[in-house]
Amino acid sequence: NKQVILKHYVTGYLNESDMELKNSTIKLDAPKGSNVVVLKNLYLSCDPYMRTRMKKIEGSYIDSFTAGSPITGYGVAKVLESGDSNFEKGDLVWGMTGWEEYSIVTPTQSTLFKIHDKDVPLSYYTGILGMPGMTAYIGFYEICSPKMGETVYISAASGAVGQLVGQFAKMLGCYVVGSAGSKEKVDLLKSKFGFDEAFNYKEEHDLNAALKRYFPDGIDIYFENVGGKMLDAVLVNMKLHGRIAVCGMISQYNLETTEGVHNLFCLITKRIRMEGFIVFDHYHLYPKYLEMIIPQIKDGKIAYIEDVAEGLENAPNALVGLFSGRNVGKQVVMISRE
Ligand code: NDP
Repeated sequence: NKQVILKHYVTGYLNESDMELKNSTIKLDAPKGSNVVVLKNLYLSCDPYMRTRMKKIEGSYIDSFTAGSPITGYGVAKVLESGDSNFEKGDLVWGMTGWEEYSIVTPTQSTLFKIHDKDVPLSYYTGILGMPGMTAYIGFYEICSPKMGETVYISAASGAVGQLVGQFAKMLGCYVVGSAGSKEKVDLLKSKFGFDEAFNYKEEHDLNAALKRYFPDGIDIYFENVGGKMLDAVLVNMKLHGRIAVCGMISQYNLETTEGVHNLFCLITKRIRMEGFIVFDHYHLYPKYLEMIIPQIKDGKIAYIEDVAEGLENAPNALVGLFSGRNVGKQVVMISRE
């Protein structure tokens, strides 16, 4: 069983050399009543939060990985054996699994989901039909309280989550602007995902001025994926009674000490509601989300871009790439097609 091991806890920027590929033996056995399920992993999801699990953390919403053990994360898999009556041999599933060819997991209601609709690319269950899709859905519709015609700004906008938030906001009749880190991504935001405007934040010396250019009357909704300087620039450009959904702060994940935010006083003066959320508190809404999103995919009303690396041996490199913006769209690792 080929596995990707976290060699040690990581300080500073994540490198491929913080992980290593190892071989181990595994007994693919799941006795009846044991509650364990044996999975053959097909697709793995590279997600920014995984970096935060690579440091020793206490009192967070999720535990650190164990140094010296295989990395775990979201993926799509096939059930080979099941001691859990909710799953059967041959089922396709998505949820928490290991960065390895085969995994033995003990599922709970919010860690492993049966895939019913196979009429879409299976890899979508790592993205639009999985955790990032739910993140965009909950973050936008539940946390942002959006209204038609409002102005919406999304950072890391071409990624797994951002590309969806932008399209949801456009469907609602909002004015939508996104930022991303390359010309290719900026072009995609406008031509593929229908954003009204987009800009390359790496080319802007003054983020405040850039935001003023696109939002002369201010921002109603900010979907925060980045944190740091970006958040500071947004705060001064928010409208009265604006809302900020704090989804992630990827610019901070590789820092030992997070940057200070200086403009929080704007929360008071502008009566802003800024709210963080964790997607897995909302998985009870997953069936409702699927009802909405699957027809939109099949009718071609929503686009989704993936960046697929092939082979478990390329998974560490794909994960590292998230932090320099190498991925264009949802970063997936394909291990096996079936
Ligand atoms: P992406 O697919 O967007 O990949 C990450 C992207 O972030 C990169 O491609 C890069 O794009 C950008 N980025 C990397 N480093 C920086 C930096 N220092 N400054 C600005 N941008 C940077 O990831 P996801 O869509 O999966 O995740 C987006 C955010 O949502 C993350 O912060 C993540 O942690 C969060 N999240 C939160 C969840 C929750 O439950 N709250 C659940 C899922 C995700 P670019 O080229 O544009 O710089």
